[in-house]
Amino acid sequence: MLLGCIADDFTGATDLANTLTRRGMATVVLLGVPHEDVDVGDADAVIIALKSRSIAAAHAVSQSLAALDWLACGGARQHYFKYCSTFDSTDAGNIGPVAEALLDALKQDFTVACPAFPTNKRTIYQGHLFVGDVLLSESSMRHHPLTPMTDPLLTRVLQRQCKGRVGLIAYDVVERGSAAIRGVVARLRTDGVRIAVVDALTDAHLLAIGEACADLKLLTGGSGLALGLPENFRRAGLLSAQAAGVLPKFSGHAAVLAGSCSAATQRQVAKMKTGSNWFEIDPIALREDRAAVAKVLQWARPRLGKEPVLIYSTADPATVEKAQAALGRERVGHLIEAAMGEIAKGLVGMGVRRLVVAGGETSGAVVTALGIDGLRIGEEIDPGVPWTASLGEPPLALALKSGNFGADDFFLKSFEKLGTADEFFSIPP
Ligand code: ADP
Repeated sequence: MLLGCIADDFTGATDLANTLTRRGMATVVLLGVPHEDVDVGDADAVIIALKSRSIAAAHAVSQSLAALDWLACGGARQHYFKYCSTFDSTDAGNIGPVAEALLDALKQDFTVACPAFPTNKRTIYQGHLFVGDVLLSESSMRHHPLTPMTDPLLTRVLQRQCKGRVGLIAYDVVERGSAAIRGVVARLRTDGVRIAVVDALTDAHLLAIGEACADLKLLTGGSGLALGLPENFRRAGLLSAQAAGVLPKFSGHAAVLAGSCSAATQRQVAKMKTGSNWFEIDPIALREDRAAVAKVLQWARPRLGKEPVLIYSTADPATVEKAQAALGRERVGHLIEAAMGEIAKGLVGMGVRRLVVAGGETSGAVVTALGIDGLRIGEEIDPGVPWTASLGEPPLALALKSGNFGADDFFLKSFEKLGTADEFFSIPP
Protein backbone atom coordinates (compact mmCIF):
# COMPACT_ATOMS: atom_id res chain seq x y z
CA MET A 1 0.00 0.00 0.00
CA LEU A 2 1.39 3.38 -1.00
CA LEU A 3 -1.27 5.74 0.26
CA GLY A 4 -3.43 5.21 3.35
CA CYS A 5 -6.38 7.61 3.54
CA ILE A 6 -8.99 8.47 6.12
CA ALA A 7 -12.16 10.18 4.84
CA ASP A 8 -14.64 11.84 7.18
CA ASP A 9 -17.64 10.66 5.17
CA PHE A 10 -18.59 8.04 2.57
CA THR A 11 -19.17 10.17 -0.52
CA GLY A 12 -15.94 12.03 0.24
CA ALA A 13 -14.17 8.68 0.24
CA THR A 14 -15.55 7.67 -3.13
CA ASP A 15 -14.73 11.09 -4.57
CA LEU A 16 -11.09 10.70 -3.48
CA ALA A 17 -11.05 7.09 -4.69
CA ASN A 18 -12.28 8.17 -8.08
CA THR A 19 -9.52 10.83 -8.35
CA LEU A 20 -6.77 8.37 -7.43
CA THR A 21 -8.10 5.64 -9.73
CA ARG A 22 -8.37 7.99 -12.72
CA ARG A 23 -4.69 8.85 -12.19
CA GLY A 24 -3.59 5.25 -12.10
CA MET A 25 -3.71 4.04 -8.50
CA ALA A 26 -5.67 0.85 -7.82
CA THR A 27 -7.92 2.00 -4.97
CA VAL A 28 -10.13 0.30 -2.42
CA VAL A 29 -12.65 2.03 -0.15
CA LEU A 30 -13.32 0.30 3.16
CA LEU A 31 -16.61 1.03 4.90
CA GLY A 32 -15.49 1.87 8.42
CA VAL A 33 -12.41 0.63 10.26
CA PRO A 34 -12.16 -2.95 9.04
CA HIS A 35 -11.86 -6.24 10.84
CA GLU A 36 -8.31 -7.42 10.62
CA ASP A 37 -9.09 -10.09 8.03
CA VAL A 38 -10.21 -7.79 5.18
CA ASP A 39 -8.13 -8.52 2.09
CA VAL A 40 -7.50 -5.41 -0.04
CA GLY A 41 -5.51 -7.34 -2.65
CA ASP A 42 -2.84 -5.35 -4.44
CA ALA A 43 -4.41 -1.95 -3.84
CA ASP A 44 -2.05 1.04 -4.18
CA ALA A 45 -4.35 3.22 -2.11
CA VAL A 46 -6.78 2.29 0.64
CA ILE A 47 -9.38 4.75 1.90
CA ILE A 48 -11.20 4.12 5.15
CA ALA A 49 -14.57 5.85 5.01
CA LEU A 50 -15.69 7.08 8.42
CA LYS A 51 -18.79 9.05 9.40
CA SER A 52 -16.79 11.45 11.55
CA ARG A 53 -17.55 14.85 10.05
CA SER A 54 -20.17 15.99 12.54
CA ILE A 55 -19.70 13.74 15.57
CA ALA A 56 -18.01 14.90 18.81
CA ALA A 57 -14.34 15.78 18.23
CA ALA A 58 -13.08 13.18 20.73
CA HIS A 59 -14.93 10.42 18.86
CA ALA A 60 -13.71 11.66 15.49
CA VAL A 61 -10.15 11.58 16.85
CA SER A 62 -10.42 8.07 18.27
CA GLN A 63 -12.02 6.67 15.10
CA SER A 64 -9.41 8.36 12.93
CA LEU A 65 -6.58 6.99 15.07
CA ALA A 66 -8.05 3.50 14.82
CA ALA A 67 -8.16 3.90 11.03
CA LEU A 68 -4.56 5.17 11.00
CA ASP A 69 -3.48 2.19 13.04
CA TRP A 70 -4.99 -0.21 10.52
CA LEU A 71 -3.44 1.66 7.56
CA ALA A 72 -0.03 1.86 9.23
CA CYS A 73 -0.15 -1.91 9.83
CA GLY A 74 -0.73 -2.28 6.09
CA GLY A 75 2.53 -0.42 5.50
CA ALA A 76 1.19 2.81 3.95
CA ARG A 77 4.08 5.11 2.97
CA GLN A 78 2.03 8.29 3.10
CA HIS A 79 -1.24 9.19 4.80
CA TYR A 80 -4.07 11.45 3.74
CA PHE A 81 -6.89 12.94 5.78
CA LYS A 82 -9.77 13.82 3.44
CA TYR A 83 -12.45 16.32 4.43
CA CYS A 84 -14.98 18.42 2.55
CA SER A 85 -13.93 21.07 0.02
CA THR A 86 -16.07 23.54 1.97
CA PHE A 87 -14.04 22.75 5.13
CA ASP A 88 -17.19 21.61 6.97
CA SER A 89 -16.34 21.91 10.67
CA THR A 90 -17.07 23.90 13.84
CA ASP A 91 -14.74 25.73 16.24
CA ALA A 92 -14.58 22.47 18.23
CA GLY A 93 -13.38 20.50 15.21
CA ASN A 94 -13.17 18.08 13.69
CA ILE A 95 -10.53 18.96 11.11
CA GLY A 96 -7.95 20.53 13.45
CA PRO A 97 -8.17 17.98 16.29
CA VAL A 98 -8.03 15.02 13.89
CA ALA A 99 -5.11 16.47 11.89
CA GLU A 100 -3.12 17.18 15.08
CA ALA A 101 -3.86 13.74 16.52
CA LEU A 102 -2.69 12.10 13.28
CA LEU A 103 0.50 14.21 13.30
CA ASP A 104 1.17 13.16 16.92
CA ALA A 105 0.55 9.49 16.15
CA LEU A 106 2.84 9.63 13.12
CA LYS A 107 5.47 11.59 15.14
CA GLN A 108 5.44 14.39 12.55
CA ASP A 109 5.82 18.12 13.10
CA PHE A 110 4.12 19.49 9.98
CA THR A 111 1.33 19.07 7.45
CA VAL A 112 -0.67 21.12 4.97
CA ALA A 113 -4.41 21.87 4.78
CA CYS A 114 -5.82 22.42 1.31
CA PRO A 115 -9.54 21.81 0.65
CA ALA A 116 -9.41 23.54 -2.78
CA PHE A 117 -11.30 21.79 -5.61
CA PRO A 118 -11.17 24.13 -8.62
CA THR A 119 -13.23 21.77 -10.83
CA ASN A 120 -16.11 22.30 -8.39
CA LYS A 121 -15.27 26.01 -8.02
CA ARG A 122 -13.75 25.78 -4.54
CA THR A 123 -10.62 27.95 -4.56
CA ILE A 124 -8.38 29.42 -1.86
CA TYR A 125 -6.73 32.85 -2.13
CA GLN A 126 -4.75 34.44 0.73
CA GLY A 127 -6.23 31.78 2.99
CA HIS A 128 -9.81 32.71 2.05
CA LEU A 129 -12.03 29.94 0.72
CA PHE A 130 -14.29 30.86 -2.20
CA VAL A 131 -17.31 28.87 -3.42
CA GLY A 132 -17.83 29.98 -7.00
CA ASP A 133 -17.50 33.75 -7.02
CA VAL A 134 -18.42 34.34 -3.36
CA LEU A 135 -16.62 33.81 -0.08
CA LEU A 136 -17.47 30.63 1.84
CA SER A 137 -19.32 32.75 4.42
CA GLU A 138 -21.55 34.21 1.68
CA SER A 139 -22.35 30.82 0.18
CA SER A 140 -25.20 28.52 1.19
CA MET A 141 -22.71 26.87 3.58
CA ARG A 142 -23.44 29.64 6.08
CA HIS A 143 -26.83 27.98 6.63
CA HIS A 144 -25.58 24.39 6.92
CA PRO A 145 -27.62 22.70 9.67
CA LEU A 146 -24.64 21.00 11.37
CA THR A 147 -21.53 22.91 10.34
CA PRO A 148 -22.48 26.47 9.37
CA MET A 149 -19.42 28.17 7.84
CA THR A 150 -19.52 31.86 8.71
CA ASP A 151 -15.78 32.66 8.56
CA PRO A 152 -14.09 32.39 5.14
CA LEU A 153 -10.50 32.79 6.44
CA LEU A 154 -9.28 29.21 6.79
CA THR A 155 -6.14 30.07 8.77
CA ARG A 156 -8.37 31.66 11.42
CA VAL A 157 -10.97 28.85 11.32
CA LEU A 158 -8.30 26.18 11.66
CA GLN A 159 -6.36 28.07 14.37
CA ARG A 160 -9.49 28.05 16.55
CA GLN A 161 -9.51 24.23 16.27
CA CYS A 162 -5.77 23.66 16.84
CA LYS A 163 -3.27 23.71 19.69
CA GLY A 164 -0.28 24.17 17.37
CA ARG A 165 0.40 27.20 15.15
CA VAL A 166 -1.39 27.57 11.82
CA GLY A 167 0.35 29.35 8.90
CA LEU A 168 -0.23 30.13 5.22
CA ILE A 169 1.51 29.27 1.97
CA ALA A 170 0.15 32.05 -0.20
CA TYR A 171 -0.72 32.24 -3.87
CA ASP A 172 2.49 33.98 -5.02
CA VAL A 173 4.58 31.08 -3.69
CA VAL A 174 2.28 28.39 -5.09
CA GLU A 175 2.31 30.10 -8.48
CA ARG A 176 6.13 29.78 -8.58
CA GLY A 177 5.86 25.99 -8.35
CA SER A 178 6.92 23.05 -6.21
CA ALA A 179 10.50 24.15 -5.43
CA ALA A 180 9.26 27.50 -4.09
CA ILE A 181 6.58 25.74 -2.03
CA ARG A 182 9.16 23.35 -0.60
CA GLY A 183 11.33 26.32 0.41
CA VAL A 184 8.47 27.96 2.29
CA VAL A 185 7.52 24.67 3.95
CA ALA A 186 11.10 24.44 5.33
CA ARG A 187 10.90 28.01 6.63
CA LEU A 188 7.47 27.53 8.24
CA ARG A 189 8.72 24.37 9.95
CA THR A 190 11.64 26.25 11.49
CA ASP A 191 9.23 28.96 12.62
CA GLY A 192 7.21 26.34 14.49
CA VAL A 193 4.15 26.31 12.22
CA ARG A 194 2.40 22.96 12.50
CA ILE A 195 -0.27 23.17 9.80
CA ALA A 196 -0.11 25.44 6.75
CA VAL A 197 -3.21 26.35 4.75
CA VAL A 198 -2.18 26.41 1.09
CA ASP A 199 -3.71 28.69 -1.55
CA ALA A 200 -4.82 27.01 -4.79
CA LEU A 201 -6.83 28.41 -7.68
CA THR A 202 -6.20 25.83 -10.38
CA ASP A 203 -5.44 22.15 -10.85
CA ALA A 204 -1.89 23.20 -11.85
CA HIS A 205 -1.50 24.67 -8.35
CA LEU A 206 -2.75 21.45 -6.79
CA LEU A 207 -0.29 19.42 -8.87
CA ALA A 208 2.59 21.67 -7.75
CA ILE A 209 1.52 21.41 -4.09
CA GLY A 210 1.24 17.62 -4.42
CA GLU A 211 4.74 17.43 -5.86
CA ALA A 212 6.15 19.67 -3.13
CA CYS A 213 4.56 17.47 -0.44
CA ALA A 214 5.92 14.16 -1.76
CA ASP A 215 7.96 13.62 1.41
CA LEU A 216 5.35 14.64 3.97
CA LYS A 217 4.05 11.65 5.90
CA LEU A 218 0.61 13.27 6.27
CA LEU A 219 -1.41 15.48 3.96
CA THR A 220 -4.84 16.90 4.67
CA GLY A 221 -7.33 18.31 2.19
CA GLY A 222 -10.22 17.77 -0.19
CA SER A 223 -9.95 15.31 -3.04
CA GLY A 224 -8.21 17.92 -5.25
CA LEU A 225 -4.95 17.87 -3.30
CA ALA A 226 -4.63 14.18 -4.20
CA LEU A 227 -4.36 14.97 -7.92
CA GLY A 228 -0.56 15.15 -7.82
CA LEU A 229 0.12 12.18 -5.56
CA PRO A 230 -0.02 9.28 -8.07
CA GLU A 231 2.64 11.04 -10.16
CA ASN A 232 4.90 11.33 -7.08
CA PHE A 233 4.77 7.57 -6.59
CA ARG A 234 5.33 7.00 -10.30
CA ARG A 235 8.36 9.32 -10.28
CA ALA A 236 9.75 7.35 -7.34
CA GLY A 237 9.36 4.14 -9.36
CA LEU A 238 6.70 2.78 -6.99
CA LEU A 239 3.72 2.86 -9.33
CA SER A 240 3.46 1.36 -12.80
CA ALA A 241 2.10 3.28 -15.77
CA GLN A 242 -0.74 0.78 -16.12
CA ALA A 243 -4.31 1.98 -16.00
CA ALA A 244 -6.07 1.30 -12.72
CA GLY A 245 -9.75 0.71 -12.32
CA VAL A 246 -10.09 -2.36 -14.53
CA LEU A 247 -12.62 -4.62 -12.84
CA PRO A 248 -13.16 -8.27 -13.66
CA LYS A 249 -16.11 -9.12 -15.92
CA PHE A 250 -19.25 -9.94 -14.00
CA SER A 251 -21.77 -12.60 -14.84
CA GLY A 252 -25.18 -12.80 -13.24
CA HIS A 253 -28.40 -10.86 -13.33
CA ALA A 254 -28.74 -7.10 -13.25
CA ALA A 255 -31.01 -4.83 -11.22
CA VAL A 256 -31.55 -1.18 -10.34
CA LEU A 257 -32.78 -0.13 -6.90
CA ALA A 258 -33.82 3.52 -6.75
CA GLY A 259 -34.69 5.10 -3.40
CA SER A 260 -33.69 8.64 -4.27
CA CYS A 261 -36.45 11.13 -5.06
CA SER A 262 -34.10 13.69 -6.59
CA ALA A 263 -34.99 15.33 -9.89
CA ALA A 264 -32.19 13.47 -11.70
CA THR A 265 -33.30 10.06 -10.35
CA GLN A 266 -36.92 10.79 -11.29
CA ARG A 267 -35.78 11.39 -14.88
CA GLN A 268 -33.58 8.28 -14.86
CA VAL A 269 -36.45 6.11 -13.59
CA ALA A 270 -38.82 7.53 -16.21
CA LYS A 271 -36.26 6.84 -18.93
CA MET A 272 -35.79 3.20 -17.94
CA LYS A 273 -39.51 2.48 -17.47
CA THR A 274 -40.29 1.46 -21.01
CA GLY A 275 -41.15 -2.25 -20.93
CA SER A 276 -42.72 -4.13 -18.03
CA ASN A 277 -39.50 -4.66 -16.11
CA TRP A 278 -40.28 -2.19 -13.37
CA PHE A 279 -41.89 -2.34 -9.93
CA GLU A 280 -42.95 0.67 -7.88
CA ILE A 281 -42.73 0.35 -4.12
CA ASP A 282 -45.55 1.98 -2.22
CA PRO A 283 -44.42 3.00 1.30
CA ILE A 284 -47.93 2.65 2.71
CA ALA A 285 -48.05 -0.98 1.50
CA LEU A 286 -44.70 -1.58 3.21
CA ARG A 287 -46.23 -0.62 6.53
CA GLU A 288 -49.49 -2.50 6.07
CA ASP A 289 -48.34 -5.68 4.38
CA ARG A 290 -45.66 -7.73 6.12
CA ALA A 291 -45.22 -9.76 2.95
CA ALA A 292 -44.57 -6.65 0.83
CA VAL A 293 -40.86 -7.37 0.34
CA ALA A 294 -41.55 -11.03 -0.47
CA LYS A 295 -44.04 -9.87 -3.12
CA VAL A 296 -41.41 -7.64 -4.73
CA LEU A 297 -39.01 -10.58 -4.89
CA GLN A 298 -41.75 -12.85 -6.23
CA TRP A 299 -42.36 -10.31 -8.97
CA ALA A 300 -38.65 -10.11 -9.75
CA ARG A 301 -37.79 -13.82 -9.86
CA PRO A 302 -39.24 -14.71 -13.28
CA ARG A 303 -38.10 -11.42 -14.78
CA LEU A 304 -34.40 -11.76 -13.98
CA GLY A 305 -32.64 -12.53 -17.20
CA LYS A 306 -31.17 -10.68 -20.08
CA GLU A 307 -32.55 -7.23 -19.21
CA PRO A 308 -32.09 -5.47 -15.87
CA VAL A 309 -35.13 -5.05 -13.62
CA LEU A 310 -35.97 -1.73 -11.98
CA ILE A 311 -37.39 -1.52 -8.46
CA TYR A 312 -38.01 1.99 -7.18
CA SER A 313 -39.70 4.09 -4.55
CA THR A 314 -38.70 7.27 -6.39
CA ALA A 315 -41.61 9.68 -6.39
CA ASP A 316 -42.38 13.34 -7.09
CA PRO A 317 -42.49 15.85 -4.19
CA ALA A 318 -46.28 15.76 -3.83
CA THR A 319 -46.33 11.95 -3.49
CA VAL A 320 -43.43 12.03 -1.03
CA GLU A 321 -45.23 14.66 1.04
CA LYS A 322 -48.37 12.52 1.14
CA ALA A 323 -46.43 9.48 2.37
CA GLN A 324 -44.62 11.60 4.95
CA ALA A 325 -47.89 13.07 6.20
CA ALA A 326 -49.36 9.57 6.57
CA LEU A 327 -46.37 7.83 8.16
CA GLY A 328 -44.00 10.53 9.44
CA ARG A 329 -40.88 11.69 7.61
CA GLU A 330 -38.34 9.54 9.44
CA ARG A 331 -40.50 6.45 9.57
CA VAL A 332 -41.19 6.40 5.85
CA GLY A 333 -37.46 6.86 5.14
CA HIS A 334 -36.53 3.98 7.43
CA LEU A 335 -39.28 1.73 6.07
CA ILE A 336 -38.07 2.18 2.51
CA GLU A 337 -34.38 1.91 3.35
CA ALA A 338 -34.96 -1.31 5.32
CA ALA A 339 -37.05 -2.71 2.46
CA MET A 340 -34.38 -1.81 -0.12
CA GLY A 341 -31.77 -3.61 1.99
CA GLU A 342 -33.94 -6.74 2.22
CA ILE A 343 -34.75 -6.62 -1.49
CA ALA A 344 -31.05 -6.31 -2.35
CA LYS A 345 -30.30 -9.39 -0.21
CA GLY A 346 -33.12 -11.30 -1.88
CA LEU A 347 -31.97 -10.32 -5.36
CA VAL A 348 -28.38 -11.37 -4.68
CA GLY A 349 -29.79 -14.67 -3.39
CA MET A 350 -31.48 -15.07 -6.79
CA GLY A 351 -28.29 -14.52 -8.73
CA VAL A 352 -28.12 -10.75 -9.20
CA ARG A 353 -24.46 -9.76 -9.44
CA ARG A 354 -24.72 -6.34 -11.10
CA LEU A 355 -26.57 -3.75 -9.07
CA VAL A 356 -27.11 -0.01 -9.49
CA VAL A 357 -28.40 1.83 -6.42
CA ALA A 358 -29.70 5.40 -6.57
CA GLY A 359 -29.61 7.51 -3.40
CA GLY A 360 -26.95 8.14 -0.76
CA GLU A 361 -28.93 6.83 2.23
CA THR A 362 -30.40 4.06 0.10
CA SER A 363 -26.89 2.97 -0.95
CA GLY A 364 -25.80 2.98 2.70
CA ALA A 365 -28.76 0.75 3.63
CA VAL A 366 -28.02 -1.65 0.75
CA VAL A 367 -24.29 -2.10 1.42
CA THR A 368 -25.00 -2.57 5.14
CA ALA A 369 -27.70 -5.17 4.47
CA LEU A 370 -25.36 -7.00 2.10
CA GLY A 371 -22.61 -6.96 4.75
CA ILE A 372 -20.09 -5.39 2.38
CA ASP A 373 -16.73 -4.43 3.93
CA GLY A 374 -15.22 -2.58 1.03
CA LEU A 375 -15.27 -1.67 -2.65
CA ARG A 376 -12.63 -1.67 -5.36
CA ILE A 377 -13.08 1.31 -7.67
CA GLY A 378 -13.56 0.75 -11.39
CA GLU A 379 -14.51 2.67 -14.50
CA GLU A 380 -16.41 5.94 -14.19
CA ILE A 381 -19.95 5.81 -15.60
CA ASP A 382 -20.78 9.50 -15.30
CA PRO A 383 -18.74 12.16 -13.45
CA GLY A 384 -18.33 11.12 -9.83
CA VAL A 385 -20.01 7.70 -10.16
CA PRO A 386 -17.72 4.74 -10.81
CA TRP A 387 -18.55 1.07 -11.03
CA THR A 388 -17.14 -0.74 -8.03
CA ALA A 389 -16.53 -4.37 -7.17
CA SER A 390 -17.31 -5.50 -3.64
CA LEU A 391 -14.67 -7.33 -1.63
CA GLY A 392 -15.68 -10.72 -0.25
CA GLU A 393 -18.02 -13.38 -1.59
CA PRO A 394 -19.87 -13.31 -3.85
CA PRO A 395 -18.20 -10.39 -5.64
CA LEU A 396 -20.81 -7.92 -6.85
CA ALA A 397 -20.58 -5.10 -9.33
CA LEU A 398 -22.10 -2.09 -7.58
CA ALA A 399 -22.73 1.44 -8.83
CA LEU A 400 -23.74 3.63 -5.90
CA LYS A 401 -25.13 6.90 -7.18
CA SER A 402 -25.89 9.86 -4.97
CA GLY A 403 -29.32 11.23 -5.90
CA ASN A 404 -28.57 14.08 -8.23
CA PHE A 405 -25.68 12.51 -10.15
CA GLY A 406 -25.79 10.99 -13.60
CA ALA A 407 -27.36 11.68 -16.98
CA ASP A 408 -30.96 10.69 -17.77
CA ASP A 409 -29.89 7.42 -19.40
CA PHE A 410 -27.62 6.54 -16.46
CA PHE A 411 -29.20 3.19 -15.54
CA LEU A 412 -29.04 1.44 -18.91
CA LYS A 413 -25.75 3.11 -19.80
CA SER A 414 -24.21 1.70 -16.60
CA PHE A 415 -24.81 -1.89 -17.65
CA GLU A 416 -23.61 -1.25 -21.18
CA LYS A 417 -20.35 0.18 -19.80
CA LEU A 418 -19.85 -2.78 -17.50
CA GLY A 419 -20.26 -5.40 -20.21
CA THR A 420 -20.87 -8.96 -19.11
CA ALA A 421 -18.86 -12.12 -18.88
CA ASP A 422 -19.51 -14.79 -21.50
CA GLU A 423 -21.01 -17.09 -18.92
CA PHE A 424 -23.75 -14.53 -18.31
CA PHE A 425 -26.50 -17.09 -17.83
CA SER A 426 -24.41 -19.52 -15.83
CA ILE A 427 -25.98 -18.51 -12.53
CA PRO A 428 -29.31 -20.31 -12.21
CA PRO A 429 -32.21 -18.10 -11.14
P1 ADP B 1 -30.55 11.26 -2.26
O1 ADP B 1 -29.16 10.82 -2.58
O2 ADP B 1 -31.32 11.73 -3.46
O3 ADP B 1 -30.63 12.22 -1.09
P2 ADP B 1 -31.28 9.20 -0.40
O4 ADP B 1 -31.38 7.73 -0.63
O5 ADP B 1 -30.07 9.69 0.37
O6 ADP B 1 -31.34 9.93 -1.81
O7 ADP B 1 -32.53 9.75 0.37
C1 ADP B 1 -33.82 9.55 -0.07
C2 ADP B 1 -34.72 9.31 1.15
O8 ADP B 1 -36.08 9.37 0.75
C3 ADP B 1 -34.49 7.93 1.75
O9 ADP B 1 -34.54 8.00 3.15
C4 ADP B 1 -35.67 7.15 1.21
O10 ADP B 1 -36.01 6.06 2.03
C5 ADP B 1 -36.75 8.20 1.18
N1 ADP B 1 -37.80 7.89 0.19
C6 ADP B 1 -37.66 7.20 -0.94
N2 ADP B 1 -38.81 7.07 -1.61
C7 ADP B 1 -39.73 7.72 -0.87
C8 ADP B 1 -41.14 7.95 -1.02
N3 ADP B 1 -41.82 7.48 -2.10
N4 ADP B 1 -41.78 8.64 -0.07
C9 ADP B 1 -41.09 9.12 0.99
N5 ADP B 1 -39.78 8.94 1.21
C10 ADP B 1 -39.09 8.25 0.28
